[in-house]
Amino acid sequence: MPAADSDDTGESWIGRLRRFFGAHDEDELSRPTSAPMSTPASAPMPAREARDTPPEIALLDAAVAGIPDPVAVLDPSGRVLAFNTEAASLAPALRRGEPASIGFRMPELVEAIRDAIQTGAARRIELSTRLPAKRFSEAFVTPVTRASTPGGSVVVVTIRDLTPIRRVEEMRADFVANASHELRTPLAAIAGFIDTLQGPARDDPAARTRFLGIMQAQAWRMARLIDDLLSLSRIELRAHQRPDTPVDLVSLVRQVADGLQTLARDRGVAIEVDAPPGPLVVLGDRDELTRLFENLIENGLKYGASGKRVDIAFASAAGADGKREARVSVRDYGPGIAVEHLPRLTERFYRVDVGESRAQGGTGLGLALVKHILNRHQGRLSIDSKAGAGATFTVALPLVEETSPKDK
Ligand code: ADP
Repeated sequence: MPAADSDDTGESWIGRLRRFFGAHDEDELSRPTSAPMSTPASAPMPAREARDTPPEIALLDAAVAGIPDPVAVLDPSGRVLAFNTEAASLAPALRRGEPASIGFRMPELVEAIRDAIQTGAARRIELSTRLPAKRFSEAFVTPVTRASTPGGSVVVVTIRDLTPIRRVEEMRADFVANASHELRTPLAAIAGFIDTLQGPARDDPAARTRFLGIMQAQAWRMARLIDDLLSLSRIELRAHQRPDTPVDLVSLVRQVADGLQTLARDRGVAIEVDAPPGPLVVLGDRDELTRLFENLIENGLKYGASGKRVDIAFASAAGADGKREARVSVRDYGPGIAVEHLPRLTERFYRVDVGESRAQGGTGLGLALVKHILNRHQGRLSIDSKAGAGATFTVALPLVEETSPKDK
């Protein structure tokens, strides 16, 4: 529990509380003229034996200490009876025995407390602060009448941080808006060409062939987007289930690279795999890891094609926690990525150049999938790139211990 005000002796606030729980002294607890509190006539102090007081105080302290959110309990004049450490960190000026209006320097909250005390009705308010960061919270101010002592009451102030919930709500709304926009664009193109084919181009075989080709590409784009969205939601659903199948990253990455040879040839890019002699075994989900390396190598082939080469290298090293991890890096020699984009690359639908991504058949979800797959595998992604100097995406995954001696 936070200590009483250093200006106050322990005797002094206990004395005040004794009077609150025991024989209430209106003068002693009356509000200071500067404080916007008033003692309601409807809430006279209970008359109790002074010897009952300490256990009540201790009980109050213990009760608020056990609550994870900031809580303060006030007397009917708005003075602080008890508060927990969470309330103290939110409002460091809170002092036992002093008016809550001094401790809570939030005008809306002070107003709500005064209102609840005057009317005896519970109040809920929303609070928002912009500095140092945007935060939202809700406060409940609840007058509580003590059944055992008719007329006795306290006011309980609880504050709940709504920032994480608001952030998730904002993210979900953004995500739905982005996904709808991404689907609407190809859909509008397809609908437009259907109109043209039914109307002006009805008897034009050359236009028909060309438009059907465009419609097919747009339909594929929608299919890829839906596929990526479903993959994301599947991975998210299993986010807390650790994959437990031993997977050799060396052979898996080789297979992925082999599968992308056609695309590499189309783009005029050579994939060089520098594999170690032994396996690098991690606990993983084979399909998800395949998807992860497909996305990284494909990005190298698509965006880094001008560099003509994509290098894949393996290593094993000690991670930050001292445990051994496998590292696979995918390096291209293309235009690279300006440093200001790096922190946002794994956000859903974030692209450096939207037109370029669309032209390459991108959905903007590839690296978001990579990040989610790595989270589930307790791995990490690091991106090293400078504009004009290619890009290196390095994946680190915890190694299964027995494989370490064979590692490179
Ligand atoms: P997309 O489906 O657009 O490829 P990703 O999430 O895979 O989506 O990538 C996000 C963006 O990051 C891409 O649109 C591209 O701008 C950039 N990017 C990814 N990999 C590379 C790379 N190897 N070189 C340059 N830019 C890249």
